Amino acid sequence: MSAATVGEALDARPVESASLLLREATVLDPVAGIDAHHDVVIRDGRIAELAAPGTVDDDSLETIDAAGLHAFPAFFDPHVHLRVPGQEHKEDIETGTRAAAAGGYCGVIAMANTTPPVSTAADVEALREAAREGASVPTGFLATVTRGMEGAELTDMSELREAGALGFSDDGLPIRSARIMRRALQYQRLCGGTIALHEEDPELSGEGVMHEGPVSAALGLTGVPSVSESTMIARDAELARYEGGRIHVQHLSAAESVEAVRAARAAGVEISAEASPHHLCLTDEAVRSLDASRHKMNPPLRAESDREALIEGLRDGTVDCIATDHAPHAPEEKEVPFEGAAMGVTGLETAFAAIHTDLVLPGTIELSLLVERLAGGAAPFGLERPTLAPGSEANIALCDLAAEWTVGEDGYESRSSNSWCAGRELTGRVVVTIAGGGVAFRLRSFSMGVAS
Ligand SMILES: [Zn+2]
Ligand SMILES: [Zn+2]
Repeated sequence: MSAATVGEALDARPVESASLLLREATVLDPVAGIDAHHDVVIRDGRIAELAAPGTVDDDSLETIDAAGLHAFPAFFDPHVHLRVPGQEHKEDIETGTRAAAAGGYCGVIAMANTTPPVSTAADVEALREAAREGASVPTGFLATVTRGMEGAELTDMSELREAGALGFSDDGLPIRSARIMRRALQYQRLCGGTIALHEEDPELSGEGVMHEGPVSAALGLTGVPSVSESTMIARDAELARYEGGRIHVQHLSAAESVEAVRAARAAGVEISAEASPHHLCLTDEAVRSLDASRHKMNPPLRAESDREALIEGLRDGTVDCIATDHAPHAPEEKEVPFEGAAMGVTGLETAFAAIHTDLVLPGTIELSLLVERLAGGAAPFGLERPTLAPGSEANIALCDLAAEWTVGEDGYESRSSNSWCAGRELTGRVVVTIAGGGVAFRLRSFSMGVAS
């Protein structure tokens, strides 16, 4: 049975199917085994052909001179906060998915910790309708595991699935009760839908505002120990194994957590995991900066040894995918002293460029690994991985790896500006995004070559 594509399964504003020629692009799709120069022919929203470079001449196609540019399978983010309903002053479906398109994404999954949380079939239906009116890229929605995210009572998971919820998560909060978690896994057997988990033991994280370690001690701030995360992963992996469930661990931050996922997978648990760009690129040293609130998130930035373990997890596949946990906040919630600042940072517009700059260019990871993991978030939710294989739905990120740009200098597509790398100069930029078969983004300053 083949999985549905992002364009088939998720909701977006209708767009014209693309018919384009990416002339002389460097095409890289590590999973499909494609790494060569090609004329990429896109007809009616599908990849029709990967032809020898410079050989296609077709007046019916709009031609983009892609010599020197890289065509990757577009990225997929299984963890974003679009803030709808209830916090539209931070983000909405239009602005959040425009940010995704600008970042090279062909699809995103929105979290359910909105105001109020997404706990009823009517909530899911309203969001899907809004996405069909305003989403620039195909968008899926999770519903909460517990009613109102209160942790006490399960939602009607079957009804939520029938309404189109892609899966379930109380992200923002852990599922405190093992009994409730077990019941959710039992219902999952009946209705499907991956359960995505924000793993944190509130008894251990307490009032912590950053990673517990030498930096928190030096700054006199309350820390969150890394075992706050890994002990909950171990608990939920055991429950998933016992019930035959399917879980996805969100925003891994600690070495112990990578090890817990690795051990669970080796024991046969159906478990997948994500890591965020900020946890892959930064450590808790960033909290020493004057701009510390920009580096406040949950889970917190951790130690260098944790960052290295996450990178090793990316390499060996323990970390299936990179997810931004794009979390827009208003300035008045971030531009306050560290201890009182809101948790979370934006990331959709910078994920590729930041990791390319911080990990690929210095030689820490290969470009092909980055490309593979940025598109790795679809499969854990039962969707077909974006691919450049001929015959596939066109989901393409066309990137200029040499482009240098300063984050935020031209503003953001997101309504919020709490980017963790604001003001940084990055190398590598998405210039065109094709999502679900249609053109979702063109960088304003990018000349589109000569149309016929
Ligand atoms: Zn979370
Ligand atoms: Zn989140």
